[in-house]
Formats: sequence, structure tokens, C-alpha cells
Amino acid sequence: MADHPKVTGYNELGKLNIHAYLEESKVNGPGIRALVFTQGCHHGCKNCQNPETWDLGKIGELISPDDLAKKILSNNNHEGVTYSGGEPFLQAKGLAEVSKIIREEKGLTTVCYSGYMYEELTGKNPPPCADFLLEQIDLLIDGRYVDSLKTNEFGAGLYRGSSNQKLWWLKPDFAKAQKNFDANKCEIHIKPNGEIIFTGFGGPTFN
Ligand code: SF4
Repeated sequence: MADHPKVTGYNELGKLNIHAYLEESKVNGPGIRALVFTQGCHHGCKNCQNPETWDLGKIGELISPDDLAKKILSNNNHEGVTYSGGEPFLQAKGLAEVSKIIREEKGLTTVCYSGYMYEELTGKNPPPCADFLLEQIDLLIDGRYVDSLKTNEFGAGLYRGSSNQKLWWLKPDFAKAQKNFDANKCEIHIKPNGEIIFTGFGGPTFN
């Protein structure tokens, strides 16, 4: 049976533990999206792009689902949110709440990365409340990152780090509306405190 660890500070009835929040990313799903990196991941993929998010005992920022939803909604350019890791499904209920609020308020969509495969999320021993979050997701990109399968190919590698990962268009309307894809790209964000964050996919020197 798979083990689903707990993220320190995360409470299904209270706060989310977030590693980082970025405004207006264009490389982690269709359109302009808020990007939320959750804290904590136990999958241990070799050459993971975000190893600083792994620590399950570290507190990044503790924020309530209501407040995170407000933050996302406060930028009118946002077409949705993308959850990345860390492992978002270790904080499934809280993130589901955020997605529900932003969809109800402004029709914003949810893209979610997970190291779990869809079959694990819907199988006999999913992480707690995985079904709540799956209900809210428009596009799921699933599976561990496999370094030997890293791909930058157009189409085949779109929004993915490695070719074993799959895109699950869980809401047909979202799939229909997103016909114009560009090749994988990466971005560099410089936060007000000077912190530099790389995100996205592809590029020969981007690991
Ligand atoms: S699931 Fe994602 S965050 Fe976790 S180790 Fe793998 S690549 Fe890194």
C-alpha cells in the first residue's frame, strides 16, 4: 500500500503550506495563470527541477484557501491557476477549495501537476481527498519526472518534463477552448525580494 505523508502545517480545515506563489505565468498550462508551488514532495524523482520543495517538515507560507483564492482573483489577467510541486495532492482538500472559489467567482480554471499517476489518484489507496481536487481540475499532468525520458519535442512534450507524463483533459470544455498550443518554454521570475525562480519546460540548458 502506498504511503501518503503529511505536510507540516497543512490542515484540511485550515491552512495550506505553500512554497512559492507567482503571478502571470504563461508556461505551465494554457493562458496566463497564477502559479502555486506547494511545499512537500515524497516522490524523489532524479534531477527534479524543484528539489527545494521536497521538505515535508518545512513551513513555506501558511495561507488559508480563502486568502489564496483572493490573491489569484485580485489579478484580472489570470485565466486560472496552476498547482505545481511539491506534490499538490498532499494538500488536496485545501487546493480543491481554492479552485472551487475561483471558478464560482470568475470562471477561472485549474491545471494541476502531480507525481502520482491518474490511476493512483483514482485507485484503491489515493491520497486523502484526492477526489475533491480531481473534481475541480480542468487539466491534470500526471506521473513522476523520469530524467531519461526528458523531452522537449513539440506536442509530445507539451507542458511535460518527461514523455511518460500524460495530459488528462478532465473537463471537455476546457480542452475544446485550448486549441492553440505553443512549444514548451521556460520563464525566469524575479520576485520583489530579489528571489529568482525558474519555471517551465524545455531548453537545452534548462534542467
Ligand atoms: S513529483 Fe515533481 S516535485 Fe516531486 S520529486 Fe518528482 S519532479 Fe520533483
